[in-house]
Amino acid sequence: MTEPSITDDKTTQTATPTATATAPLATTLEALRAALGVDAVRVGEQIGERALTDWTRHEPTRPAALLMPRTTDEVSRALAICHAAHQPVVPQGGMTGLAGGAIARANDIALSLERLSGVEELDAASATLTVRAGTTLQAAQEAAEAAGFELALDLGARGSCQIGGNLATNAGGNRVIQSGTARDQVLGLEVVLANGDVLSSLGKMVKNNTGYDLKHWFIGSEGTLGVITRAVLRLHPRRAARHTALVALDDYDAAVSLLRRLATRFGNDIGAFEIMWPDFYDFGVKLTGARSPFDAAHPLYALIEHAGFDADDAGERFAQALTDALQAGALRDAVIAQSVADARALWAIRECTAEFPLKLDPINFDVSLPIGEIGTFVDRCRAALDQRWPGNRSYFFGHIGDSNLHLTVDGHSIPGVDHHAVYAFVYEMLRPLRGSVSAEHGIGSLKREFLPISRSPAELAAMVAIKRALDPHGILNPGKLF
Ligand SMILES: Cc1cc2nc3c(=O)[nH]c(=O)nc-3n(C[C@H](O)[C@H](O)[C@H](O)COP(=O)(O)OP(=O)(O)OC[C@H]3O[C@@H](n4cnc5c(N)ncnc54)[C@H](O)[C@@H]3O)c2cc1C
Repeated sequence: MTEPSITDDKTTQTATPTATATAPLATTLEALRAALGVDAVRVGEQIGERALTDWTRHEPTRPAALLMPRTTDEVSRALAICHAAHQPVVPQGGMTGLAGGAIARANDIALSLERLSGVEELDAASATLTVRAGTTLQAAQEAAEAAGFELALDLGARGSCQIGGNLATNAGGNRVIQSGTARDQVLGLEVVLANGDVLSSLGKMVKNNTGYDLKHWFIGSEGTLGVITRAVLRLHPRRAARHTALVALDDYDAAVSLLRRLATRFGNDIGAFEIMWPDFYDFGVKLTGARSPFDAAHPLYALIEHAGFDADDAGERFAQALTDALQAGALRDAVIAQSVADARALWAIRECTAEFPLKLDPINFDVSLPIGEIGTFVDRCRAALDQRWPGNRSYFFGHIGDSNLHLTVDGHSIPGVDHHAVYAFVYEMLRPLRGSVSAEHGIGSLKREFLPISRSPAELAAMVAIKRALDPHGILNPGKLF
């Protein structure tokens, strides 16, 4: 009788490989020090606080070691050693993630991309920027702007998050409505596989139909398939004419109508369309210490950015469009920023989420739903939360042009309630709508058990098959995603 092969065994096929080290840690660290140098392998108190947890502040844990490689070659050598020892490795970027994806367990080795940073090349003819993975998003944006271009990726954590982390999470952010997610900004990618092999596809071509487009397997894979070391990012002509407005609306349907009205008039020049329900807006105004520019309270607010090329009359055309909408009864009120400082003040209300971990015990959701269903979902969700946990404080906002709704429930307002119960309660409401439990932050460790709400068994099996093919020992970021 022959032994069943791996492919015959259904259980083995669907189980995610998860490594348990087969070599003593001391032996692995010795090999790592020999390969990378002593200063690149930190242990115990040498590991700074930053490596212990991400922006969720979830379960801070000191990993067994922190690697600080400076080059792709060093990442490759480190992974080859860990692969041979079946040693779990957790890639770490700027640690601004909101899904617990970069948090290492006590027996894991964390691998920081912090020292593998810097812009390598700006190619004006190709309109591309080649950067190392540890470069902060802001540094990449500034390099693009200095050459008259624009990197069409922007989010509140820009000063700390890294390009590698942005790509590993396929970050969304404020400009998706205009230019797509992080995935859409990538032309080439260099990745180190679990066994140390380097997959260097740093092409600058827009068109390249030579078989599978492998980069897309790694973008959004949350460090479970490979370590991103370099990327070629697509640049866009700089949209110098930015105009920002805050508008007050009757209800969600009015917001969708306004979005369509502005899209008809300005096409792709609508750069942001951020909806804030009053709970969020009022809290944002309070947190920023600002005064609401409106005299009265309103049922809904939208922060809108017109981002075009034509500096001459773009502001006037945008203002005229809002005046027309006001006269047509399509909105209740509007204020238009008259200066960069005004625009920043309006954006500060929307970006008050950076303060949430300091002011709240945040239970964060970043779900997605068809745009037309978001308003009804918010009403139902709020009513259900109020019925289940009277007195809860919940804040709704979203990039609705991208079908993305955010909700933060303040755990302080429901003392004694386990966060998990709140996650399960809200995610279950998505199931009948076939919504996504993560629009942009990823699954990490926090949403693992809820992934089947959004993915079919066949989809999950295909993901596990890819994981098994690229990381057969399961050393990369075990316990995340699956
Ligand atoms: C104030 C604030 C605002 C935010 N706004 C947004 C927003 O609008 N849209 C949005 O999408 N997100 C947002 N986020 C979440 C977060 O900033 C993004 O998820 C960001 O892309 C994470 O980048 P990072 O470098 O901090 O990654 P980390 O948090 O360090 O890691 C995130 C995941 O990527 C993996 N990873 C990191 N680097 C690499 C690499 N080089 N190779 C392979 N895997 C890697 C990690 O293992 C982990 O699974 C926000 C966060 C904050 C704090």
